[in-house]
Amino acid sequence: MKFNYFDIHSHLTESRFDGIRDDIAKQMSQEGIGTISIGTDQAESKAAVAFAHKHPNVFASVGQHPVDNRSESFDPVFYQKLLDENSNKIVSVGECGLDYYWPKKDIEAGKSSESDFKQEKERQIELFESQIDFAAKNNLPLMLHVRSFSNADAHHDVFQILEQKEKEHGKLRANFHFFTEGPEVAKQIVARGYSVSFPGVVTFADLDETIRSVPIEQMFSETDTPYAAPNPYRGQDATPLMVSEIVKKIAQVKEINEQDVAKTLVKNAQNFFGIY
Ligand SMILES: [Zn+2]
Repeated sequence: MKFNYFDIHSHLTESRFDGIRDDIAKQMSQEGIGTISIGTDQAESKAAVAFAHKHPNVFASVGQHPVDNRSESFDPVFYQKLLDENSNKIVSVGECGLDYYWPKKDIEAGKSSESDFKQEKERQIELFESQIDFAAKNNLPLMLHVRSFSNADAHHDVFQILEQKEKEHGKLRANFHFFTEGPEVAKQIVARGYSVSFPGVVTFADLDETIRSVPIEQMFSETDTPYAAPNPYRGQDATPLMVSEIVKKIAQVKEINEQDVAKTLVKNAQNFFGIY
């Protein structure tokens, strides 16, 4: 199918969309908008796959979020079966990665200790590494959730882990989803050959320098539906129908014709995720 826009990260499977999710997907189809519905654990991964099967413009990413469901570990047997049965719709692994923000906030609030954090970090790294192995084995790209607490702490650890894993598996394909860090971190991602996806935040926070520091070929647009709706929809639940606002902002900052940016970002998504 022909796409005008691609929102590479959304969660339309959330219960707040019950009863309207299929209408949203159909309207997206009329407007030529594609999306990847993101799994955060086994149940959400299955839901993303089921939703993707109902709509030609919806695809799925399967995996385990670093902090959303801390009681579940990554079961490669479950995910391999899911992938083998739905390989035409599953285009990436994740969202997976490291999130130091929430565990560090718990320490600040007196709810946990530094030694708890050490343990939590070990848990997250193990969870992440098993998904890197799974992605490499199946030749799928990684949809990364990386949230630092300070000084890009989680980002630097992710760089190290990917570097180590590349010694084992060869070059990995990885996208840093919801990218809102500064140009320094952006430049490191670019230099390592990875990509970033920009959320609605770019329309209301000053991330212009960050956007300028990433070549158009190494970026994507995303809404992270239902979070972080772009201007002028701020405060509402985001949907992939709003993705053009993010493309418009990127075009303004990059000083490139908006339609050309839209086309390039669609092409980036199709190449990276193997969607045709
Ligand atoms: Zn997400």
